[in-house]
Amino acid sequence: MIARRPATLRERPDGPGRLFGRETVTNCLSLFLRMPYVVAEPCINCKYTDCVEVCPVDCFYEGPNFLAIQPDECIDCNACVPVCPVEAIYPEDQLPEEWEHYTQWNEYLANQWRDLGYNVTEKTGPLDDAEAWEDAEKSEEDILTWDV
Ligand code: SF4
Ligand code: SF4
Repeated sequence: MIARRPATLRERPDGPGRLFGRETVTNCLSLFLRMPYVVAEPCINCKYTDCVEVCPVDCFYEGPNFLAIQPDECIDCNACVPVCPVEAIYPEDQLPEEWEHYTQWNEYLANQWRDLGYNVTEKTGPLDDAEAWEDAEKSEEDILTWDV
């Protein structure tokens, strides 16, 4: 695995919420894209990675402090949902409203991390401060990505 400097999403201005505005992206892309299961906000800074062990198609991709599901690879099996200790994974149509934009972030980040070789298939354990972040207020702005 290639080690790269983590960068905040603010340093990556080409994200889906930046190019067109989140609402436009959500409305337009939802017409064309399919996102069966989505990793949402509770995963940020946790990375317990229990989910990757049960995924039969290895469709999780890893950032420095978040995991994303590649939508075209996910086969909607639901195996990852009950094993996530912080209830971060949802079928797209059951995402809480405040996290609906994570559909686009999962596709964008999973594709980026796939291109960089960050497919994750084995449990690696939580980040050091995972417990402290579980109940903390956080948003997609806290997601780190790899600098390219
Ligand atoms: S088990 Fe949940 S919190 Fe842990 S990496 Fe997977 S989605 Fe994120
Ligand atoms: S629903 Fe199944 S295929 Fe999709 S990410 Fe979860 S475990 Fe993998």
